[in-house]
Amino acid sequence: MNKIYKVAVIGGGASGLMCAVDLCSGKNALLGKDVFILERNDRVGKKLIATGNGQGNLMNERFGAENYRGEKAFVDDFIRIAKEIDLESYLNGLGIPLCTLKDGKKYPLSRQASSVLDTLRAYLSFKGCITETNAFVKSVKSRKEYFVLTTENGEYFAEKVVMATGGTCAKQFGTDGYSYILAEKFGHKKTALYPALVQLKTEMNAIKGLKGLKEVASVTAYKNGKPIKNSVGDILFTDFGVSGNTVFQVSSAFDGVGDEFLSIEFLPELSLEQLIEIINKRLSLKHIDKSEALSGVLNKRVGQAVLKLAKTSSAVDIANAVKNFKLKVTGNLGFNFAQVTKGGIATKDVNALTMESKLVKDFYIVGETLDVDGDCGGYNVTFAFVSGIIASRAIKTNI
Ligand SMILES: Cc1cc2nc3c(=O)[nH]c(=O)nc-3n(C[C@H](O)[C@H](O)[C@H](O)COP(=O)(O)OP(=O)(O)OC[C@H]3O[C@@H](n4cnc5c(N)ncnc54)[C@H](O)[C@@H]3O)c2cc1C
Repeated sequence: MNKIYKVAVIGGGASGLMCAVDLCSGKNALLGKDVFILERNDRVGKKLIATGNGQGNLMNERFGAENYRGEKAFVDDFIRIAKEIDLESYLNGLGIPLCTLKDGKKYPLSRQASSVLDTLRAYLSFKGCITETNAFVKSVKSRKEYFVLTTENGEYFAEKVVMATGGTCAKQFGTDGYSYILAEKFGHKKTALYPALVQLKTEMNAIKGLKGLKEVASVTAYKNGKPIKNSVGDILFTDFGVSGNTVFQVSSAFDGVGDEFLSIEFLPELSLEQLIEIINKRLSLKHIDKSEALSGVLNKRVGQAVLKLAKTSSAVDIANAVKNFKLKVTGNLGFNFAQVTKGGIATKDVNALTMESKLVKDFYIVGETLDVDGDCGGYNVTFAFVSGIIASRAIKTNI
């Protein structure tokens, strides 16, 4: 029989790499030769280097339970431990200093996600940690004192296993949902899966003339008549619906069930009263036709679309249409365009303090595989990194 490693990490993405780094460092560090990573791609960290448009939005200055969806108790524990770990100092200690932008997003000072991957890889190589690429783990089986991991290249043995195989979106990076098959074999359940941080399909009638336009707006996601999530920033009109930062941010409010729509507030910097006054003034000028009530106030094409939705040509109705431009959401572009998976392995069967399965001893689940998803803005990489560190620390104290 081949060597029995102390820890096998399945998946060389954000959570798996960080877990392996932590396993080889600090108090009770393991020897690099006792930790190995199995990655199905020909390289580790393919998704990590694509984050933040290649700049690596790793964290956010504003950080709390309100930025995550998932089981409340699990998320609360995660936030508390994450604050204790202090990821920014941790990264700094590894040689990855961060910078913070005005909107709170934190990036590596280099503004290159690839520099983060290079540093993690350099650390693992310095510690002698073994990485097998092109190693797709087909099955994990539990024997009495170790696990057997089967890949196309053969079998590997480990005392403890960390499953860091990601979710089911952006399968070009190696994440096609096989994670759930591996975990379900051990009795774990998955919750409903839905693409999040994704472009939205909407009814097209009201916006068909707007394709290609990018506007600043306050966008609110409504579900069954209730406002669920709001974001202010860019919205881009496309031939399928809407995209842009605000849309990514609010998209996680939707799951395809019930009545879902967006309320777009153009000119969010103006109050309704200010807008009514501006429109009234324009309508009082004899040389301005009613059909031009919004020209010079909004982009002409947006103005025309808004006027079509206004109940009457009164300034009040027009201003209300500017402030509450409703669009029915009919779907999204799907998992391959999404940045994160909403839903995943149910966290009721995973210990938030250790990331160890409550069903199988010595089996840990970290990162996006779990039913936790974060807002757009660095929250998902933070969850991946920190959950990897939490698992590592529990392993190091138990080995
Ligand atoms: C284009 C894009 C941009 C993003 N930008 C940001 C951003 O700026 N900020 C942010 O916070 N989040 C961002 N995200 C989300 C973030 O990247 C993920 O949530 C995070 O990488 C999840 O980490 P993970 O370790 O759980 O999974 P992943 O990073 O997806 O890694 C999982 C790894 O496991 C491997 N694997 C899967 N199955 C197997 C198997 N059976 N055997 C062996 N290996 C396997 C995969 O090949 C992959 O390398 C972005 C996502 C995308 C797609």
